Amino acid sequence: MQNERAIVIKNPILRRIRNNLRLILRLDTYEKYKHLINERNIIVNSGSEEIILKNKQDEINHLNQILNHSICKCRVCSGYENDVVYTLKWDYWLCVSCYKDLQKYYHKKGESISIRFNILDSSFKL
Ligand SMILES: [Zn+2]
Repeated sequence: MQNERAIVIKNPILRRIRNNLRLILRLDTYEKYKHLINERNIIVNSGSEEIILKNKQDEINHLNQILNHSICKCRVCSGYENDVVYTLKWDYWLCVSCYKDLQKYYHKKGESISIRFNILDSSFKL
């Protein structure tokens, strides 16, 4: 079974669309995150029951987890404008540059990780 898969987009128009969609998703996530933090602070200041605070913190943690495992950003460098590689081993996305650094690291340790590229090039028509 293939453990890694790269999504490579060469068409500059498609790259711009991808990057803008990632930006929109990240901004929306950050707005939700800010809202949850404000709600948590209100709960803390009101002295509500601990279970209510825990539930709010769980929501915040879940939102962080969703963003960290999404294709919207590299887990290592937090970049969002690069082609990405999904790693089944860690269940998250890395930019190609960070992935290659990891490949070098694992190669030095005597392990290897392979990658399958899905390339969307200029022949792709909208
Ligand atoms: Zn990266």
